[in-house]
Amino acid sequence: MKIQKVGIVGAGQMGCGIAQVCAQAGHEVYLLDTTQAQLKKAKADLERRLSRLVVKKNITPKEKTAILKRIKTGTKYDGFKACDLAIEAAVENEEIKHGILKKLCAVLPAKSLIASNTSSISITRLGARTDRPEKFVGMHFMNPVPVMELVELIRGIATDEETYAAIRELTLELGKVPVNAEDFPAFIVNRILLPMINEAVYTLYEGVGSVEAIDNAMRLGTRHPMGPLELADFIGLDTCLAVMNVLHEGLADTKYRPCPLLVKYVEAGWLGRKTGRGFYDYSGDKPVPTR
Ligand code: NAD
Repeated sequence: MKIQKVGIVGAGQMGCGIAQVCAQAGHEVYLLDTTQAQLKKAKADLERRLSRLVVKKNITPKEKTAILKRIKTGTKYDGFKACDLAIEAAVENEEIKHGILKKLCAVLPAKSLIASNTSSISITRLGARTDRPEKFVGMHFMNPVPVMELVELIRGIATDEETYAAIRELTLELGKVPVNAEDFPAFIVNRILLPMINEAVYTLYEGVGSVEAIDNAMRLGTRHPMGPLELADFIGLDTCLAVMNVLHEGLADTKYRPCPLLVKYVEAGWLGRKTGRGFYDYSGDKPVPTR
């Protein structure tokens, strides 16, 4: 099956990035979110990112206009009626994802595929909430989507080969590199990355180092391009906590216990870059460590 029109649920940092790479590859895109305000922000984001590509001469102004024209936005599920594929990229909350899948199944043509960009939730369990578990697959893009090459592809127990092959082909067409991961909590990248970030938060919590010391130590000592706390802010602390909870519950091992300080930051609404404050304060010209 050839995927042409792509619908995306969730116009946050991931949904926007996925919309951009799909439209850049020539696909018609429908991008849905719950409010017009979020869609307005998403459109401004897309405009800004594509303008940067024009300045860098990666695309022409004419191409930018054509790419933006291919992305339609809305708050209604009707837009999915003509989609060959729906990609769910809303918040990392299983209840919310269940609600979205129900709405998608009601409007998507029977032959259309559904993928979830979940960072950690079982693809088998999400697929079971749809009317087409054999056409359901995990398609885990990395952040920022236009820059990162990897897409983890995850089969649920019921996913059929035709679906997997079509998603793999689309991944290649988007210029990305697919890596297969089995359906275990948090798959490959986040199974390894998030416990490291959680440990960095424990290191801060126990006073072993300040935010700056921890990030400098990991940048300079392990050649990571970003420190773990800076990266946590970039990912979103709510997403980090959600992934740790999935690992903790799914693997029933105390080594995955989310750090209480991470929980507190999320409770405070300090979710990182997207809310302007996390382990750093982003209100000024330069991020300032908060501890
Ligand atoms: P985000 O907070 O930037 O965006 C989430 C979007 O979902 C928001 O725009 C919100 O309005 C929308 N939303 C919430 N409830 C909704 C609903 N019922 N219907 C439609 N839209 C709804 O989060 P994000 O970082 O873009 O993450 C989205 C998904 O991608 C999550 O499942 C996350 O685990 C996954 N993911 C995140 C990263 C990352 O680094 N942030 C990387 C890979 C995958």
